[in-house]
This record gives sequence, C-alpha cells and structure tokens, in this order.
Amino acid sequence: MTNKKNKIINVISNYNPESQKTSQLLIDKLKSKGFIIPTKYDKNAELNICIGGDGAFLRTVHRYQFTNIPFIGINTGHLGFFQEILPENINIFIDKYINGDYVVEEILLVKADICTKTSCFELFGVNEIVIKGIQSKVVHLEVFIDDNHLERFCGDGIIVSTPVGSTAYNFSSGGSIVYPSLKTLQLTPLSPISSKAYRSLPNSTIVPGDIIITIKPEYRYENSILIIVDGIEYRYDNITEINFTVPEKTISKLNFDKNMYWNNLKSKFL
Ligand code: NAP
Ligand code: MN
Repeated sequence: MTNKKNKIINVISNYNPESQKTSQLLIDKLKSKGFIIPTKYDKNAELNICIGGDGAFLRTVHRYQFTNIPFIGINTGHLGFFQEILPENINIFIDKYINGDYVVEEILLVKADICTKTSCFELFGVNEIVIKGIQSKVVHLEVFIDDNHLERFCGDGIIVSTPVGSTAYNFSSGGSIVYPSLKTLQLTPLSPISSKAYRSLPNSTIVPGDIIITIKPEYRYENSILIIVDGIEYRYDNITEINFTVPEKTISKLNFDKNMYWNNLKSKFL
C-alpha cells in the first residue's frame, strides 16, 4: 500500500488557528529532516499528514478521492478519533516515522450504488452512509439482505456504517462498536417505529462484508430521500434502489501504537 519513499509529504491543515500553527511547526521540522513539503497537493507523495479533527480527516479523504497514499492525523480538533498524533508529540512522531516504527492499517469503506429511474451513481463513505427523509418526514424503506426481504422500515432513517464509522453516528444511535479489521457493515435504525401500524427492527444488524444490503424507498417516497455521506448531504430524484457493499477500494492509515484503539475508546468515550 505504501507509496515509493520519495521524501515528499503533503501537509493538509484546516483553517483553525491551532491547526495552522501546528502545520507550520511540522513543516519546519520535516524540512529540517530532509523531507519535501509541496505547496500544492502532490499525488505522488509518500504520506499525507492531516491536521485537524475527525471532520478534517474525513474531508481530506473525500477531497483527494480516497487516494492510496497513507494518512496520519495530528489532532487539533474536538474528539479526533482518527487523529493519532497529539501536537506536543510531533518530534516523537517524526523519529518513529523515519525509523519505520509503525504499521500500515487498512481502512474499510462503504459504497452505495444509487439507481434512479434514469441513471446510477456511486458514492463512497469512510464512516457511514445514512438514508433519511427530507423535511423531517418519516421514511418508509424496504430493506433486503442479499435479495432476502428483511423489513419494511419506518422511522427517521437507517445508518449503514463501516467498522471505523461504528464509533461515530452509529454509536450515538445505539449501534455497536466494531473493531476496524472486521470486514462488515452495520445497519442501524434511527428512531424506528414499532407499533401496531409499523414493525421495524429496534436494534442494529451487523452483516458480513461480502453481502449486499438493498434499500428501496416506497414509490411514494422516491423523491423524498436524503443520502448523507460522512456528514455531506446528497439528493437524487426518483430513486429506485440503493445497494450497499464493502468496496475493494480501501484507504490506509499509519498506526504507531497497537493499543491505540482501545486506549482511544476508553479515553474518548468513558
Ligand atoms: P461533527 O458534527 O463535528 O461530528 C460529530 C462528532 O463525531 C465530532 O466530535 C467528530 O470528531 C466525531 N467523529 C467523526 N468521525 C468519528 C469516528 N469515526 N469515530 C468517533 N467519532 C467520530 O461533523 P464532522 O466532524 O464533519 O464529522 C462527520 C461525522 O459526524 C459523520 O460521519 C457522522 O458520523 C457524525 N455525526 C454524528 C451525529 C450524532 O452522533 N448524532 C449526527 C450527525 C453526524 P471531531 O470533533 O474530531 O471532528
Ligand atoms: Mn468535527
């Protein structure tokens, strides 16, 4: 996965003053160690360093089209679940990077193939792809797992989450935490209605990564569906069906501490 080591590193920062300060400090230190920091994003770089919070990480991954250049994040944001390095540990990070003291971790994604009456589109997500109604309406969705009808869902919507996204919106909505190496998708209901009128599963379902989840809006609702990918809204008219899969395409992230995941969980959620 790792690109050829050419000493070129992209440093990508959000506009927050703390990130800008950290970015300048980092650039100076990297240059003093012989790295080349291009002023414009270089698609042949050996590493992308992203400075900010999780939102900055997600936006960077989307902006550079899920590049296979590995990422590492420096956390100047609020939570920073993706962002392993703290600004005060930049020196240690640079030394470990030069010594190759890390593993490259593959991050599994989610893909939605959206078909309307006239065409099909592809969307990729790092955390999740959410299906909701527009204007806060209840959505009515038919859900199939590998062509088997599972339920007629009624409620606010459904989250289809990746393992790394399981600690984000999925987690706040009662979904389970899934270890990042498990090739799965998690289907999590948002305020599911379970009454005499409607029956929807109240809990989330975790499915293996080689399965296709299909969601079809009821014909009356085909123009009232909102698709939200990592926090960004999309709207298409006349949606007939959406197929969710785990794509071949992945991104990668450097990992400097094998206990980081469990430490993160404890320190950021408890
Ligand atoms: P945001 O409103 O800042 O995100 C909400 C919070 O989720 C932030 O604290 C963010 O961390 C954190 N976060 C993002 N990805 C995470 C992950 N994989 N594990 C644990 N926490 C994570 O918006 P944003 O920064 O652009 O992030 C977009 C994400 O927000 C979406 O992908 C969705 O998962 C999440 N979201 C959550 C809710 C909810 O929990 N009710 C509702 C809508 C969206 P930082 O503070 O470091 O940015
Ligand atoms: Mn954020």
